[in-house]
Amino acid sequence: MPSYQFQCEKCGNRFSIVESMSQHEKHQEKCPQCSSAELKTRLSAVYVKTSKKS
Ligand SMILES: [Zn+2]
Repeated sequence: MPSYQFQCEKCGNRFSIVESMSQHEKHQEKCPQCSSAELKTRLSAVYVKTSKKS
């Protein structure tokens, strides 16, 4: 599962959450520090590499 990095627009707190893409689209994440929903989202590239099978 991808790990999403958030940065709070209000307090600048940065945190990351691991969730599936569908979860990510449904849920409105909130800052654990100030409960603001104004977050910048960045998908950090932490996908587990897919092994190619030919
Ligand atoms: Zn915050």
